[in-house]
Amino acid sequence: MSTPRLEIDLGKIEQNARKLVGWLASRGIGVTGIVKATLGSPAIAQALLRAGVKRLGDSRIENIEELRRAHICAPIILVRSPMLSQVGRVVRSADASFNTELDVIAALSTAARHEARTHGVLLMVELGDLREGVMPKDLLDTVKRMLRLPNIALSGIGTNLACRNGVRPDISNMAELSSLADAIDAAFADSLGGPIRVVSGGNSANLDWAMSDSDPGRIDDLRLGESILLGREPLGRRAIDGLSTDAIRLVAEVIESNRKPSQPWGSVAQGAFGEVPHGPDRGWVRQAILGIGRQDIDPDDIHAPPGIEVRSASSDHLIIECESRHLEVGTEITFELGYSALLRAMTSPHVSRLI
Ligand SMILES: *Cc1c(COP(=O)(O)O)cnc(C)c1O
Repeated sequence: MSTPRLEIDLGKIEQNARKLVGWLASRGIGVTGIVKATLGSPAIAQALLRAGVKRLGDSRIENIEELRRAHICAPIILVRSPMLSQVGRVVRSADASFNTELDVIAALSTAARHEARTHGVLLMVELGDLREGVMPKDLLDTVKRMLRLPNIALSGIGTNLACRNGVRPDISNMAELSSLADAIDAAFADSLGGPIRVVSGGNSANLDWAMSDSDPGRIDDLRLGESILLGREPLGRRAIDGLSTDAIRLVAEVIESNRKPSQPWGSVAQGAFGEVPHGPDRGWVRQAILGIGRQDIDPDDIHAPPGIEVRSASSDHLIIECESRHLEVGTEITFELGYSALLRAMTSPHVSRLI
C-alpha cells in the first residue's frame, strides 16, 4: 500500500458526529458540519449528513464546488467572507455565505440576480477574538442596508471566537450574541417576516460552553470541524469523552534506520528550518527516517505511538528515535494527528487517502 497515507475511518467520523449532534440537540442547538480540513471530501461530507448535521460548511469555494460535483445537494454555507472576484461562483454553488462587508453583499446581490437566485447572508459579529466580524455597534445599520438589496436574504448572525487570539466562548459573549439577535428581531421583524433563524455561536471551541448548564439563549447552531474529525476540543486540545481521536491516522514508512550519535559534529549553525541543535548528549541512539516531511505534516502536531519519539523534520525527512527496537527499512509507523498536521496532510499531493 502506498505511503505516506491517511487512513480515514468513516464509521468513527460518523459516530463522533452523531454523538455531538445528539448532545447538542438536547440543548436546542443544531450542527453545521465543517469539512474544510478534508479538502471538501464528499465521502466525509456524506458521513456527516448521515449523522444528522443540518448543513455543511467550508471556507473555500473550490471545496464547495467539489462537493456539488459529487452531487451533494444538502445546504452548504461558505464560512468565510467571499472574495469579490468569486461572488459568481459563490452564488452558484453555495446556498449562503458568512459576510462582514456591505460591498461584498452588494456584489453577491448583483450576481444572485443574474443567476435568478436568492443568496443567504449570515452576518458575522466581532465579539473580541479580532478575526472576522462587523463591530456590534454597526450591526443594525448593516442589516438595514443589506435588506435593501435584491436577491439577498438574511439567514442569520454568527460569531467566531478562539481562532486568532484564543478568546473563550463564555456566558457573557454568548449572551451578547443572543441579545444582538433580539435587537435585530425587534428592529426588523416586519421586513424579515419573523425572527432570524440561525444564530451561530461558534466552532468546536464552544463545546465547553454549550455542554455546561448555562442557558443557550438564542444560540441554535454550532459549526463543528475539529471535534468531529479528531475528537478533541481546541481550547486545551483535550480528548472529548466518548469520541474517537483516531478516526484519521497517518501512516509513514521508514527509509533509513541506523545507530547514530545524538549530537551533531562539525561546526554547527542553523538547520534548513532555523533549528539549532539542543538538548543533552544522549550518547548513541537508534535513529530512523520516515519518508514524509514538513511539506506534508506539522512535525510538532503529530502523536507517535508509545516508544517512538519525533525528533525533528525537514521538508521531506521526519527523524524519529526508537530505543526499544531496530525499525527495519520499510516498517510502517502510524501517528495520530492534531489539526495543524491534519490540514497539511490533507492538502499535500504526496499523501494518499485510504477511506
Ligand atoms: C474552520 C471554521 C469552523 C470550524 O472550526 P473547528 O474548530 O474545526 O470546529 C467554524 N467556523 C468558521 C468560521 C471556521 O472558519
